[in-house]
Amino acid sequence: AKTVGRGSYRFFEAAMGKEVRERRVLEKALRRALVQGELRLVYQPQIAIRTGAVTGFEVLMRWQHPERGFVSPALFIPIAEESGLIQEIGAWALTEACREAAGWDVSLSVAVNVSGIQIHDPAFAPSVRAILSETGLDPARLELEITETALIRDPDRASTNLRELKALGLRIAMDDFGTGYSSLSNLRLFPFDQIKIDSSFVAAVDSNPQAAAIVRSVIGLGAGLGLPVIAEGVETAAELAFLTAENCHAAQGYFIGRPGPIAAFACHTHRSPAP
Ligand code: C2E
Ligand code: CA
Ligand code: CA
Ligand code: CA
Repeated sequence: AKTVGRGSYRFFEAAMGKEVRERRVLEKALRRALVQGELRLVYQPQIAIRTGAVTGFEVLMRWQHPERGFVSPALFIPIAEESGLIQEIGAWALTEACREAAGWDVSLSVAVNVSGIQIHDPAFAPSVRAILSETGLDPARLELEITETALIRDPDRASTNLRELKALGLRIAMDDFGTGYSSLSNLRLFPFDQIKIDSSFVAAVDSNPQAAAIVRSVIGLGAGLGLPVIAEGVETAAELAFLTAENCHAAQGYFIGRPGPIAAFACHTHRSPAP
C-alpha cells in the first residue's frame, strides 16, 4: 500500500508540475502579448428591452496567441490575476475602451469588466480618473462590471474604493448576480447601480420554472431597490419574450448580438457609416 501511495503521490506531483509549468509558459506569453499587440477588445451590444434600442456595449478581452490561437479570457484572466499582470492589462483595456467610446457620435455606454485585484488596489480609482481625463470620456458613459466574489477579500477596502470610483461619476454593475454566497447582503453593502442577472438563470427561464421564478424575483428586487436589471446570456426569442413580459430593463446575449469588433457596430456608434 505504501508503494502505491508513494507512486500515486509522485504521479500527482508530476501532474501538478505539468500544470504549474503550463501556467508559467502562458504567463510569460501573456507578458509579451500586451507589448506585441496580441490582445484586442470585442464589443457586445446591450439593448433597452422596451424600445429594442442599443444603449451600450460590454467590452470583452480577446487573446490571439501566435501558435495556440484563441485563448479564452476564462483561462488567461486568472493567470493575469495571479501573476500581477492584471493591473497593466486592465488599465490597457479600460484606456482602449474609453478612447473608443469617446470617439462615437452617440453617447452610448461602455461596460468594462474589473477584476477583484483591481478593485482592492488603492491605486485603481486614481488610475480610472487619469484614464477618463486622458481620453475625455464622459464618466456617466462608463460602467464597471464587478462580480460579488471579487469584493469579498477585504469588503471594507473594496467598498471604500467603489465609493471613490462612484465619486468620479461612473456606474457600477453587479455582474453574475445570484451566483455568489450572499448576493442580497452584497446589494446592501456595496453601492451598485445595476444588477446583471447571471446567464445560468436567464438560459433556463423558458425551460425551468425555478429559474423563471428567480429571474422574475430579481427583476422585482431591482424595481424595489430602484436599480435597473440587465439579463445576460439571452440566446433565444423565448427568453427575450419572457424578459419583456416581466418588464426587465435591458438584455444582452447571442440572440441580440454576438461580441465582435466595434467596426461591426458602426451603424450604432456613428451617424453615418464609418469610412
Ligand atoms: P462575463 O463578464 O460574465 O462575460 C460574459 C461572457 O458570456 C463572455 O464570455 C461573453 O462572450 C459570453 N456571452 C455573451 N452572450 C452570451 C450568450 O448568449 N450565451 C453564452 N453562452 N455566452 C455568452 P468571454 O468573452 O469568454 O469572457 C469570459 C469571462 O472572462 C467574462 O465573463 C469575464 O469574467 C472575463 N473577462 C473577459 N474580458 C475581461 C476583461 O477585460 N477584464 C476582466 N477582468 N475580465 C474579463
Ligand atoms: Ca461581465
Ligand atoms: Ca457575467
Ligand atoms: Ca433557454
